[in-house]
Amino acid sequence: MAGSLALSPREARLEARVLAAAVLAVEPVWLLAHDTDALETGQIDRLDAALARRLAGEPVAYIVGEREFYGRPFRVGPATLIPRPETEHLVEAALARGGAGARVLDIGTGSGCIAITLKLERPDWQVTAIDLSAEALAVARDNAERLGAELEWLASDLFAALPGRAFDLIVSNPPYIPAADPHLDRGDVRFEPRVALASGPDGLATIRAIVAEAPAQLAAGGWLLLEHGYDQGDAVPALLRGAGYTEVFLERDLAGLARVSGGRSQRR
Ligand code: GLN
Repeated sequence: MAGSLALSPREARLEARVLAAAVLAVEPVWLLAHDTDALETGQIDRLDAALARRLAGEPVAYIVGEREFYGRPFRVGPATLIPRPETEHLVEAALARGGAGARVLDIGTGSGCIAITLKLERPDWQVTAIDLSAEALAVARDNAERLGAELEWLASDLFAALPGRAFDLIVSNPPYIPAADPHLDRGDVRFEPRVALASGPDGLATIRAIVAEAPAQLAAGGWLLLEHGYDQGDAVPALLRGAGYTEVFLERDLAGLARVSGGRSQRR
C-alpha cells in the first residue's frame, strides 16, 4: 500500500488505522488500546473493499465519508473538498476580527466546515453560507444538522443571490490553483472537485472577482478574509490594496507559508 501510494510507513499505518476503525465502527484511538484479532467475515470484506478503493487512489476521507476540522467531524463527499488543517487558520483569522452579532458570509462553503465552525464557536453570529453546487450544499446542511448549528444556506454564484445584503465579515477558501498546475492530477487532489480547486491560468480568477465585488456587500469597516496559495502572498494583498481595502494583512500558517490575506472595506 505504502509503495503504490507513495505514503511514508507512518502515514500508511495511520491510514490503515482510520480505515480499520471505520469498518469496526470505533474511534481510531480505540484500536491502539485493544487487541482485535477476531474480525468477522463481513468486517473483513468491508476492510478489503476500503483497501481496494484506497489502493485505486481514492482519499481516505471519501472512503470513510468524514474528516475532522477544528476538532469536529464533518461529512465529506466527491462534491466537496476535504477540509485541510491549513484552513483552520482562516477560521482563526475570522474569530479574531468579527464582533458581537456579526453578519458573516462564507463563499464556496463546500462541506460547510468554515461556516459551521464559526457559528459553533460564536453562536451570536448570523452566518450565511453559499455555494455554486447543490450537492455540496446538501452535504453542508447535513453537517450543520449533525453538529447542531443553524445557518442560512443559499445556492449562489459568488454574490449573485445576495443583492443588497451587507455583511460584517466575508470569508472564503476559494479555488486558487492555476488550471494547468500538475498538482491537480496527483494524489488525493485528483479525486476532489476541480471547480473547488482551479481558477484560471494564474489561479487568481475567483479571488479577483471576490475582491472586486465584496466592497458592495461589506458593511462599513467590514473585513474580507481569503485563504490562498503559499505563492500568492504578494499577489493577493496587492489586489486588496489596489481595490481600496485598508489594513491589508497577510498571515502565514504553522508551516510558515503565506496562507490568509484580508482587508477592510471603506465603503458604506
Ligand atoms: N490547499 C489546497 C491544495 O493545495 C487547495 C485548496 C483550494 O484551492 N481552495 O490542494
